[in-house]
Amino acid sequence: MSDVATTTTDSAGGTAVERTAIDRSVIDRTGEALVLVEGLTKSFQHMGETLEVLRGIDLNIYGGEVLSIVGASGAGKSTLMHCLGTLDLPTTGKIRLAGEDLTSMGNARLAKVRNRHIGFVFQFHHLLPEFTAVENVMMPGLIQGRPKAEMEKRGKALLDEVGMSHRGSHRPGELSGGEQQRVAIARSVVLGPKLLLADEPTGNLDTATSEAIHQLFFDINREHGTTIVVVTHNIAFAKSMPRVVTMRDGRVIQDDRSDNDAFRAPANAEATD
Ligand code: ADP
Ligand code: MG
Repeated sequence: MSDVATTTTDSAGGTAVERTAIDRSVIDRTGEALVLVEGLTKSFQHMGETLEVLRGIDLNIYGGEVLSIVGASGAGKSTLMHCLGTLDLPTTGKIRLAGEDLTSMGNARLAKVRNRHIGFVFQFHHLLPEFTAVENVMMPGLIQGRPKAEMEKRGKALLDEVGMSHRGSHRPGELSGGEQQRVAIARSVVLGPKLLLADEPTGNLDTATSEAIHQLFFDINREHGTTIVVVTHNIAFAKSMPRVVTMRDGRVIQDDRSDNDAFRAPANAEATD
């Protein structure tokens, strides 16, 4: 796969950020989308009233894409992520993931799809405090009964990728917030998910630490071809992605792609906004 990454400087909110364009040659929009969302709604019953949180979402996400979801607090971003991640069921509408209809599956089958195809990173790392960094990264595989030696090899390789190989034997309590999140990111991709869902992964970190973590998502996309959806309030981070989906009141009100031209342009073309 050709590496067409170019580094340019983007200025957002007064902060200069390094912008690394992903290798878009991995994105194939000719076949079925990896994620296909149609007419998705989600309502909650609250104190006898129906709260419509998602009001009809249509969204296609192709394999290899990196996109951000932005919008005011309460817009329904986390609810959408939970539905995409099979952690919650929509009220109506359809979600297909890797050719399978998630909305017509039983719980056991859903859990299998989730384990096989989806990785999660949350605002808080949810690492297990009594286990070391490498054990935490290995954990999803160990739970599935995969060989310990295989998982240890993968765990170490991933810790190396996220710049944490020197902290493999440390427990989460001995790591900084940014380091904990690096471990959580390594864990999220240890089973090679097609789709990585990150909900405000740097919402709890300082600016400099956040920027380093943001870069990790691009690195993972480039190294593994993982499709990545990130909910973020960080405007600079959102803008550094080739696609930005904006939600308001349970709807997608904007879906901007800055990479349309990149598909037609020669491989060494500069990325444009
Ligand atoms: P965002 O992530 O964009 O801030 P959320 O998806 O978390 O928004 O929430 C959207 C709306 O749905 C909010 O008004 C929230 O209070 C409501 N909501 C979320 N989950 C539940 C729930 N389990 N029960 C009732 N209301 C909920
Ligand atoms: Mg949220």
